Order: sequence, then structure tokens, then C-alpha cells
Amino acid sequence: MSRELVFLKMAVLRLLKEHRPGYVSGEELCKGLEVTRTAVWKHIQSLRGDGYDIEARPRAGYLLVGIPDRLYPEEIQDGLTTKFIGRQVFYNNSLASTNDLAKELASRETQISDGTIVVAEEQTGGRGRLGREWFSPKYRAICFSLILYPPVSPSEVSRVTMVTAVALAAAIRNETGVPVGIKWPNDLLVGGKKLCGILTELGAEIDKVNYLVVGAGVNVNQGPGDFPEEVRDIATSLKIETGVTVNRVKLLQAMLAEFERWYRVWLEHGFAEVLTKWREMSVSLHCPVCIHAIDKSWNGWAEDVDEDGALMIRLPDGELQRVVAGDVSLRV
Ligand code: ATP
Repeated sequence: MSRELVFLKMAVLRLLKEHRPGYVSGEELCKGLEVTRTAVWKHIQSLRGDGYDIEARPRAGYLLVGIPDRLYPEEIQDGLTTKFIGRQVFYNNSLASTNDLAKELASRETQISDGTIVVAEEQTGGRGRLGREWFSPKYRAICFSLILYPPVSPSEVSRVTMVTAVALAAAIRNETGVPVGIKWPNDLLVGGKKLCGILTELGAEIDKVNYLVVGAGVNVNQGPGDFPEEVRDIATSLKIETGVTVNRVKLLQAMLAEFERWYRVWLEHGFAEVLTKWREMSVSLHCPVCIHAIDKSWNGWAEDVDEDGALMIRLPDGELQRVVAGDVSLRV
């Protein structure tokens, strides 16, 4: 579809929304958009094809009855309160990985604007840390990646994972009341089960970050049967926790708004406030933990995280061990 036709289709949608819960006459649509009745009809049919429920009644016109549960860019932007996060959206029905497309876009010669997001209704090759698989079935989860160009050095990059964890946890708590907590380094948990994973990747030179891509997979409307056997016992979704279907668009808008808020706090006022909030929302601090790094593991007491996102473990002999990367098991 040409740019002009997409623009007209979106204008039809906007007018239908403005007149809700009333009808908008065919004549008004034709006049407002300076197009023929046949053209209006074609746009209505195309919107129906996208899942919009539109009633047509002789002499009354058209009524928008229902909006589909899709992460369409026009739905994300309708009511989005951010200044730059999510102002440009690359939407895909299915993608191998939103992070992969985001990295490709970010490394193009003509730069994509700061805060652009890539969303997909499903990922067929979603990844977590160390290439571990991340499952996200169609229309049930929120999978998105943010493209960012922060003026920071490569050593500060882990802070963006912490900013994201704080922002997503805050948005989920506000929108659903689910008491989600942060597990070091990159997960959100509810009752010990994983609700969301975050994966930060970067394009950088030795002392300069060219771009950052932060991806998140949030389990929203999956039922227990939507998870593959191997993660069924360790995963949960907002629907499982609350018993109700969550509006994915509204939740994504809230997550983008919270992200922008905390990202700006970091860049404009420094990292201390983010770190305080991270500590407050953490479920992997002040408890016994077992850490598995690539070549070592430690049992100890998770005492704190530092400014660079490293976990500080008090070992049984009293020594404080700084862990930069590894898997944490909470020992309860
Ligand atoms: P851990 O959860 O042990 O800390 P990790 O942080 O490295 O591991 P991630 O990289 O964030 O994990 O995510 C990958 C892992 O998450 C997979 O190995 C799998 O066990 C689990 N997983 C995959 N898909 C989902 C999902 N939709 N919901 C919850 N957990 C999942």
C-alpha cells in the first residue's frame, strides 16, 4: 500500500475513533478526506481486514465497534505520553528476534531516530542471555526492542538494563497491581517465576557506544498451556497472576512512558536515583544466593549491587565478592 493510501486509511480510523460511540456518515468521511465513497469503502474493508470491527448502517454511516488486540503503531501512538520513546514504531506480525531487526536498523547509515521501537506479535527465534531461547507465542506476549543512542561509555551499558528493569516493573505494578520484583541481572519475577526477560546489546568502539538495543519479552496473556514444557514450572504471565486478560497496548504505552521517565532521570540527574529504586524493587538482594559464573560458583549473601550493576556477595569467610555476570539461584 502506498504511503498516501496508508495515510488516508489512518485518517479514516481517526475519524471513526473521534465519533465513537456514534456513527460517522459516509458523506462526512468523503468530504473530510476529499475522497470518493468507493475509496472510503476500500479503507473500511482494509481496516476490517486488520481486525477492526466496523458496523455499516444505511443512512447512519460507520461505527467503530471494536479495536483488535494488536500492537499496531497507530494504536501504540494513540494516547502515548512520551516525547521520543516509541514515537517511531517498526511493527511486524512475526519476527525471528526484535533485537536483531533493531540492531540492523541502528547500524544503517541513515540513522533511525533515538527511541524508535521494534515490536513483533511473535518471535520465532527470541533469545535471552548467552543465546538461550526465549518463547513468545503470537498475540499473547509483548516483545519489543528500543533503539537508543545514549552519551555513555561502554562500561556504563549495564545501567540501561537496570533502568529498563525499574521502568518495566514500575509500569507493570501500576497497570496491573502484580507485585513484580527484579532479579539480578535481567529478569522480572512474580512469586519466584519469570514474567519478563531483558536483553541489552550494543554496537560500540573501544570507548564509544554507537547504539544500544534493549529488548524485552513480557509474558502477558499466556495461559499455562501456552508455555513449552521446559519452562512451564518456572514461567508465569500477568493473566495467570491476575485471572484477567490484560490490554497489551495500554501496558506497552505505560512501559514506554516509565522507560522514558527513568532513562531521563539517569541521563539528566545521574544513576543514584535509579539504583535506589532498583534496590527497592529487587527480590535478589539481602537473601542467600548461589551464583554460577562461567568457570566458578559461589554461595553467599547478596548484599548489594554497585553503580555498574555488579552484584556484591558476602562469602562465608566474610570476604566481599564482586560478580559482574552469572546466573543467580535464590536459596530460600
Ligand atoms: P535465569 O533465568 O536462570 O537467570 P537467564 O537470566 O540467563 O537465566 P534469560 O537469558 O533472561 O535467562 O532467558 C532465557 C531463559 O528463560 C531460558 O533458558 C528459559 O529457561 C527461560 N524462558 C524462555 N522463555 C520464557 C518465557 N516466555 N517466560 C519465562 N521464562 C522463559
